[in-house]
Amino acid sequence: MSERWMIHVPVSAPDLLRARIFARTAARVLARLNARVEPGGVNVSLEDQQNVRHWVFCDQPLPDGGGRCVLPYEHNAPCSRRVPGLDRRRVPRVE
Ligand SMILES: [Zn+2]
Repeated sequence: MSERWMIHVPVSAPDLLRARIFARTAARVLARLNARVEPGGVNVSLEDQQNVRHWVFCDQPLPDGGGRCVLPYEHNAPCSRRVPGLDRRRVPRVE
C-alpha cells in the first residue's frame, strides 16, 4: 500500500465542459502554489457515476522527453509544456 495520501475536493459544475474548465483552472492555480499538485492526474465525474472518470489534461509525454503535455484533454494543437497566454511568474511558489 502506498504511503501517499490524496486530497479529493468536491466541486460541482453544471456539465462536463464547465467541470473540465473549472478543474483545469483550479489545478493550475494550486500547481503554482505547491509542487506536490499533479495536474495531469486531475479528472472529473458525474456525481452519481464517480467510477467513470473524464480526464482534464492531455498529460501525454512530450516527444523530446521534456515533461508532459499541459494542454486540455483532446486538444487539437500539438502537445506542449506551456499553455499559450498563461504567465506563470505572477504567483510565487511555496515549496
Ligand atoms: Zn497534448
